[in-house]
Amino acid sequence: MVRSQFLGMLDGDACYEVELATDTVPPDGMDLVGLRELHGVLEDDLFALGARAVQIKEWDRTHQYCGHCATVTVQMPNERAKRCPKCSLVSYPRLSPAIIVLVSRDDEVLLARAPRFPTTMYSVLAGFVEPGESLEETVIREVREEVGVEVKDIRYFGSQPWPFPNSLMIGFTATYAGGEIVPEPNEIVEAAWFHKHNLPQVPSKLSIARQLIDWFAESD
Ligand SMILES: [Zn+2]
Repeated sequence: MVRSQFLGMLDGDACYEVELATDTVPPDGMDLVGLRELHGVLEDDLFALGARAVQIKEWDRTHQYCGHCATVTVQMPNERAKRCPKCSLVSYPRLSPAIIVLVSRDDEVLLARAPRFPTTMYSVLAGFVEPGESLEETVIREVREEVGVEVKDIRYFGSQPWPFPNSLMIGFTATYAGGEIVPEPNEIVEAAWFHKHNLPQVPSKLSIARQLIDWFAESD
């Protein structure tokens, strides 16, 4: 074991994450499996615990030294934070908020295909929040940048931790306010309006992207 952190309680059991040495051989009947492969395999609460474990492990591993003066950091007793004893810099686990937005126009939804998607899959738009932005401003900027369309009536939908590696997806719905679709070539291969009863292949049931699309497809 390289290092470990307490995660919290689950069903009365104390849970810890453990960082293993790279040459660790799992015991008979056990295996080492990546978090992504467990998405949809584990129960929700266990997957959430795994996601928490991976992110806290990564924060622990990469904050052993102060990012400002390189002094060895000290774990703070009552907080998920590390403090530098020399310059007092405090480092918390990193979370990167990102918006995800379903843009609709009457009975149609704007879906796009990113270069990394399988060739037949389309999804709603998403992007990281920039420092100094409100979430609503991110929604407007991302939609404008990625497909050249203006939106209005931005409403909160729900959120989902996305631990690959440390995002928090914050979902919104918005309605079309103007412009023609012009995909941003580096981020979007293709984008189009799809009727809610004639949708292309979309992401898996577990994603907030799919929850947004299902919500729209089933709306009156
Ligand atoms: Zn320091």
